[in-house]
Amino acid sequence: MKEDIFHNLTIINNRIKTACEQSGRNIDEVKLLLATKTVSADRIKTALEHGQTLIAENKVQELKEKYDDLKNIPHDNHFIGHLQTNKIKDILKYDVTCVQSLDRLELAEKLHLRLLNENKTMDVLIQVNTSNEESKFGVDPNKAIELTQKVSGFSTLKIKGLMTIGLFNAETEKIRACFKILKNLQKEIIHENIPNVEMKELSMGMSGDLETAIEEGATIVRVGTAVFGKRIYPDSYYWNEGDVKNKEE
Ligand SMILES: *Cc1c(COP(=O)(O)O)cnc(C)c1O
Repeated sequence: MKEDIFHNLTIINNRIKTACEQSGRNIDEVKLLLATKTVSADRIKTALEHGQTLIAENKVQELKEKYDDLKNIPHDNHFIGHLQTNKIKDILKYDVTCVQSLDRLELAEKLHLRLLNENKTMDVLIQVNTSNEESKFGVDPNKAIELTQKVSGFSTLKIKGLMTIGLFNAETEKIRACFKILKNLQKEIIHENIPNVEMKELSMGMSGDLETAIEEGATIVRVGTAVFGKRIYPDSYYWNEGDVKNKEE
């Protein structure tokens, strides 16, 4: 129901505001991104008509399915799922403005070639696996600087920061440790002073842990469940795509 979404957005915006106040941050520093996997175009529309401007899908298939219904409402579309290289052309076709899940050199190379071909550029975040879980994508924290350096060489890719998925269903302090890893990497990369690299954005925090993420410096929190309700598929359906990974590379 529409009212639920309105109500949930009010609650989320209040949570963001309170978290900013408590950590002495300006509310303008934190953007709310709606993670819309499994959510119908109609319900996404409701959120967009209620002032939201930033949404993201995990799967190219869903991006495609909802595209026509949403294209006339102004908004930004990010991509936050594992991106297979054979889906890159779709990402461009459906107007994604930022790939938050850039986690390997091969993907950067192929994305760059396609962008060159179409005379376009793309914002990207380097996705880091801060939780050390097999099931999640993201570059190993020890390799993140090296990957950033390499990706910075591709003129069409505009690196804007880092993204991570924190530990799921864990104690707050363990989740916080993940976010601290990302914040520290951001500092190290800034220190490296790499040309063509901006490190403003830290995309971290979801429905259950956005307060912790904001305390640790998040500039984008990605929220699904707390706005749209529980999903029927478990998150492992989106995150635990180990066999997809192997098939592709
Ligand atoms: C689903 C998803 C989210 C949102 O998770 P919720 O717990 O539903 O808020 C955030 N980031 C990524 C990468 C996701 O896949």
